[in-house]
Amino acid sequence: MLSFKQRQNIQQKAEDLIRRSGQESVFPISLTTVLKKEKLTLKTFIPPEGSDLKNYSGFIDKDKKLIYVNDEEPFYRKRFTIAHEIGHYVLEHGNRIDYRNHKYSNEPEELEADLFAASLLMPKSAFMEVYRTLGLSELAAFFAVSRKAIGIRADELFSEAVSL
Ligand SMILES: [Zn+2]
Repeated sequence: MLSFKQRQNIQQKAEDLIRRSGQESVFPISLTTVLKKEKLTLKTFIPPEGSDLKNYSGFIDKDKKLIYVNDEEPFYRKRFTIAHEIGHYVLEHGNRIDYRNHKYSNEPEELEADLFAASLLMPKSAFMEVYRTLGLSELAAFFAVSRKAIGIRADELFSEAVSL
């Protein structure tokens, strides 16, 4: 579990990045614009049959500033993975490999990168603003995330609101 202060800090970093990339109130957030601003390069890969790469959703090489994403994943999943890898970069977690089966997903760095990704794709104030007025599918389309990601973000933000 991340503390309230850690969570605030991560959300702040995601919001700073949105501002730096000139995308306040632009939805869905363009990750291409964010990557460009941070001088990160995105590469996709299609894992060959029988290769270990099949198990990876994405990974980051921080020294080369390269983010790799598995091209076999659905569009929304890829977006979330890219935002997650950007999180590892911004939060200075070093080189990371992310697995499709969420192996290691309870490690603090993974929780942090997930929260960063959610905060980048679904910034708090915008989410709170549109949540009550749009249906689940409309919300997913508005932020270009999966419906599952909308549900997780809603739980996260509405429980945060009462954790004083
Ligand atoms: Zn990760």
